[in-house]
Amino acid sequence: MSFRIPFFRHDLGEPELQAVGEVFASPILTTGQTVATFEARFADLLGCRHALAVTSCTGALHLSLLALDIGPGDEVITTPMTFIATANAIMEAGATPVFVDVEPDTGNLDAALVEQAITPRTRAILPVHLYGQMCDMNALRALARAHGLALIEDAAHCVEGVREGFRPGQTGTTACFSFYATKNLTCGEGGALVTNDTALYEKLRLLRLHGMTATGAERAEKGYRHWDMTVMGWKYNMSNIEAAILLPQMQRIPANLERRHRLARLYEERLAAMKGIRCFVTRPDTTHARHLFPILVDAIPRDAMIQVLQESGVGVAVNYRPVHLTRYMRETFGYRPGRFPVAEAIGERVLSLPFFPHMPPEMVHQVCDIIAEAL
Ligand SMILES: *Cc1c(COP(=O)(O)O)cnc(C)c1O
Repeated sequence: MSFRIPFFRHDLGEPELQAVGEVFASPILTTGQTVATFEARFADLLGCRHALAVTSCTGALHLSLLALDIGPGDEVITTPMTFIATANAIMEAGATPVFVDVEPDTGNLDAALVEQAITPRTRAILPVHLYGQMCDMNALRALARAHGLALIEDAAHCVEGVREGFRPGQTGTTACFSFYATKNLTCGEGGALVTNDTALYEKLRLLRLHGMTATGAERAEKGYRHWDMTVMGWKYNMSNIEAAILLPQMQRIPANLERRHRLARLYEERLAAMKGIRCFVTRPDTTHARHLFPILVDAIPRDAMIQVLQESGVGVAVNYRPVHLTRYMRETFGYRPGRFPVAEAIGERVLSLPFFPHMPPEMVHQVCDIIAEAL
């Protein structure tokens, strides 16, 4: 389907083409200097000691769990109001996801409900900074400390976010990011994690590439030397090609975030006047990364609103229908509707509207006109 008003459009262009061209002109296509440059700049951006570039956020989450020796028999507390990747990474590590309900006005993991879900098997809390707004990391960190748990942040939506002075990765054990096709920073498919823990970083580095003691680029640059495999690792290394696509975009982060904030304010102003439509709130002392622009549709069934918008040529998405109610989760863990009422209420009403930095403000007005008419 092609939409008059697309849900998302990337802003990659000449700078990225040129950067990729530079990689083509060099002998190293795989993980090498371009990846190292990206990692240094990304760590700097997040104010963390180390960054590791990988092939996806799912991989970054999986590696974080593996590096922390979290696996079979262990429980990881997370949110049902997220993309399935969050829970899948926990299961990939062999651990069990334990869901906790969310805050009604942000959709973020409700820190007040986490403690009652902690058992002797709990090893980590895995919050998701939903839509680009950080969770209450002060509360989650206090809980993690009191119970000796790791804190792994799913920051797939939240490269630019700040809350109470802290960015993703600055209070957690690791924070994991996605550069998937529709994310705020993108290289089509990619991811990264940041951490301040140097010993953990060294372990993650090994796990990223088969547990090998040398990379292909090192062998190509310094000449062949025998290498060893010291631990059982995975294949999650980012290539220089993806890193080249990411580097020029980093310079546009402040301007694009400003554009996202302007568009979000415009949506909020228009929608405030409409009965039966609610927007999520932003907590005090928070810089929202504004990855998505979701609304809650109370006035009419959400799916009826989807139909009207799509038939009017407007691209939309649902972020998200709760993970515990997917068929796999129901069949595997026996979840039934009613278990996480807040996430389920959001899942029935939430709708993401078209939203991307270079979206013309007229399009916001057009989308809001169609919503008003549907109501
Ligand atoms: C996109 C996304 C992921 C997965 O990212 P990949 O890079 O595709 O693995 C994980 N969590 C959330 C919340 C996401 O939106």
